[in-house]
Amino acid sequence: MSKAQKSQNNGGSNVIELGKVVCCAQGCNKKQTRAEFCEEHFTWYKEGLISGKGERPSDFDKKFIAFQQRSRKKAA
Ligand SMILES: [Zn+2]
Repeated sequence: MSKAQKSQNNGGSNVIELGKVVCCAQGCNKKQTRAEFCEEHFTWYKEGLISGKGERPSDFDKKFIAFQQRSRKKAA
């Protein structure tokens, strides 16, 4: 009879935080949710607006405007 043992199972989330859990995009301090990015910047990355390191290319403004126009059309 030994059912006194506490089973401390925290849902298997034994990921060790490595100190960097915020989105790696420039100027963003949201939590990482996808890869190294927050939800929004992961979309940016997918759309080619920023590099995998969160860096903006020199023609970022142009790309960003085009991206906004694309997503506006989708939402409409
Ligand atoms: Zn972000």
